[in-house]
Amino acid sequence: MTVMRAMVLERPQTALTMQERPTPQAAAGEILIEIAACGVCRTDLHVVDGELPDPKLPIVPGHEIVGRVAAIGAGVTGLALGERVGVPWLGATCGVCPYCRSGRENLCDRPLFTGYTRDGGYATHTVADARFAFPLSENLDAAEAAPLLCAGLIGWRCYRMAGEGTALGLYGFGAAAHILAQVAIWQGRRVYAFTRAGDRATQDFARSLGAVWAGSSEELPPQPLDAAIIFAPVGALVPAALAAVKKGGRVVCGGIHMSDIPSFPYRLLWEERRIVSVANLTRADAREFLAIAPQAGIKMKVTRYPLGEANAALAELRAGRFEDAAALIP
Ligand SMILES: [Zn+2]
Ligand SMILES: [Zn+2]
Repeated sequence: MTVMRAMVLERPQTALTMQERPTPQAAAGEILIEIAACGVCRTDLHVVDGELPDPKLPIVPGHEIVGRVAAIGAGVTGLALGERVGVPWLGATCGVCPYCRSGRENLCDRPLFTGYTRDGGYATHTVADARFAFPLSENLDAAEAAPLLCAGLIGWRCYRMAGEGTALGLYGFGAAAHILAQVAIWQGRRVYAFTRAGDRATQDFARSLGAVWAGSSEELPPQPLDAAIIFAPVGALVPAALAAVKKGGRVVCGGIHMSDIPSFPYRLLWEERRIVSVANLTRADAREFLAIAPQAGIKMKVTRYPLGEANAALAELRAGRFEDAAALIP
């Protein structure tokens, strides 16, 4: 019997513990993946903190999985042993609900989410539904590819929801904004970066990537924006972003969790401004973005932690201490 190692959450608001388990078999429709890196995402913190309802417990967190196909279950086509794959947050969909049948599988009524309602990638191995494992370019470093699978994909869906306007505001300049800013600038858009007041380092960093303006989220940008995407989990940014977009502008909320949105005057919403949220991703989003990402030349600074240091990595994320993104290396 081969053994895998995993960092496991037994109960919310407790530390993850390293456990050894029999390596799972790939059942029909599944693949076994030997993990090379798994990104550490804010959503993992929401799972660990018990802020998301009804997790599978105990759970192996982690939904930015990069690895190689180590075994293939019956009926799987299109993937080869040894092939590099990535597994994102959307781990399975039902295929029959009204959302799945209308091209909106991100809203599936009976989905499974990697690292939340099915075991994820804080481990040496995982099994994935083969339909939700995507071939990944060999040109990317495993740890640097990991954030593309969540921060990148959710950012991409937000970007698509933000419309075609050229002036794009990004509120909260973490991994998702860092990736998306590079894609948007590569596509010729003007990026305005909003950070916490006084966070000069992040503002300088955004300018170094090519943002035309960077400042505090309490400020208005020098010109009104066509759209704004909010990645920071701060409800007060919704009225702030509405005030920064022009008539017909869109404000896209990209987080899975946000503090309450304070009340605001109707005039901020009037003139056909829109507030929308983005939930999860579709397989079409993943294929589209993972094809574009290598072309856009996305660069990430990823802090690497050994698998057993998952609690430390989460603590650093909570404290906002790593510059960009982090990944666990088994
Ligand atoms: Zn469904
Ligand atoms: Zn994530």
